[in-house]
Amino acid sequence: MKKTPHKVILTEDQMPQQWFNLRAVMKEQPDPMLRPDTLQPVTEEDLAPIFCKELARQELDSADAYIDIPEPVLDIYKMYRPAPLIRAYDLERALGTPARIYFKHEGNNTSGSHKLNSAVPQAYYAKQQGLSGVTTETGAGQWGTALSVACSYFGLGCDVYMVKCSYEQKPFRRNMMNVFGANVTPSPSMTTEAGRRILAENPGTSGSLGCAISEAVEAAASGTGKRYVLGSVLNQVVLHQSIIGLESKIAMEQLGEYPDVVVGCAGGGSNLGGLIAPFMADKILGKKNPRIVAVEPASCPSLTRGRYAYDFCDTGKVTPMARMYTLGSGFMPAPNHAGGLRYHGMSPILSKLYHDGYMEAVAYEQTKVFEAAVFFARHETILPAPESAHAIKGAIDEALRCKETGEEKVILFGLTGTGFFDMTAYENYLSGRMSDYIPTDEDLQKGFASLPDIPQNRA
Ligand SMILES: *Cc1c(COP(=O)(O)O)cnc(C)c1O
Repeated sequence: MKKTPHKVILTEDQMPQQWFNLRAVMKEQPDPMLRPDTLQPVTEEDLAPIFCKELARQELDSADAYIDIPEPVLDIYKMYRPAPLIRAYDLERALGTPARIYFKHEGNNTSGSHKLNSAVPQAYYAKQQGLSGVTTETGAGQWGTALSVACSYFGLGCDVYMVKCSYEQKPFRRNMMNVFGANVTPSPSMTTEAGRRILAENPGTSGSLGCAISEAVEAAASGTGKRYVLGSVLNQVVLHQSIIGLESKIAMEQLGEYPDVVVGCAGGGSNLGGLIAPFMADKILGKKNPRIVAVEPASCPSLTRGRYAYDFCDTGKVTPMARMYTLGSGFMPAPNHAGGLRYHGMSPILSKLYHDGYMEAVAYEQTKVFEAAVFFARHETILPAPESAHAIKGAIDEALRCKETGEEKVILFGLTGTGFFDMTAYENYLSGRMSDYIPTDEDLQKGFASLPDIPQNRA
């Protein structure tokens, strides 16, 4: 059995100074984003009212392989990065596997997840452009928290519309955003036209993500110098998250290791896209041939059971349409779903790679995911986020297969965050109250019915 150190933490000097743009090495590009009104490919000008100028440029840049990380972004990255690469020795021992399991720990910052990696540049570019603030919606709260942290650092306003039932049931998330100076508004609210309309129609409503998005978008579009920002799915977010994969690759090189399998959880695809970026590049360029595995919830199976079609990136239907694996923006996971990763679509970059056979996908039921989470916690002393536990489950299954075959494979997975705010879900699991629901084909049909009825989707 090959012995390597328990962990590798790169020095600040070894931290990458550039993001890596996977599109630059892809043999075929993802289909272009389309304007919903003209169905023509979007231009930077089209994106300008929605995104900051530089972020709009990054969104459409498929040519530059490397993009400099601005100095002020590097400065804040260095407060919590490089993030450790950890060898899961005790997990290996407990599983009795000959595989060597490594994970990249992105939960080592106050916001508790990898989302800070993109929140920081998004806040920075907004500030640099002279905007007064950014608006967003939050359900579970990780993105809102990361964005609050980044905005407070750059002195930028941050308005978070939080689904009312989460606002009431998860006060700690909102308290945390308040510590970082964000305005957190329970949605629907009386502060926007959309909120007032919904409240008038349905005074007792506990809110929905779609409604929170409508409010956040309206607040950004109301001409007060703000932009609406997203924490996943978009090309720009995958680009920023490449820091995860770049650091992992350097750290593994120091150990003389290269992963045979790279496993990540997939919600909108940003952490996975970032983690795999340099390894997928090797695969595309024929230098190496790692297997790449996306893990998703069986209750929200966009890759394994979705359609490859044009759809809106957001449930509010304000962003351009992208061709991706999607369940339809109208799809809602069953109410008992507690494991996160509830997004209806998937990064267009990952969708294209999956479609072209460069990666695999598996879906797990949530009780299996929480079982893996608890097993991992007890052996590796880290409380994983339920989202991250999907990757853990995927990695454990790979390791168990190695046990059967005796192969000493190297497995790398992404630990995207910690689960301190997910204790209700853990409690449900531990008390045996957690159940699984796998959508029927009929359930999925309802979501597919919400796909845009455009020629591109009828082919
Ligand atoms: C948001 C989130 C995810 C899923 O988002 P991706 O864009 O798919 O990476 C995964 N893990 C954690 C901890 C998250 O907060």
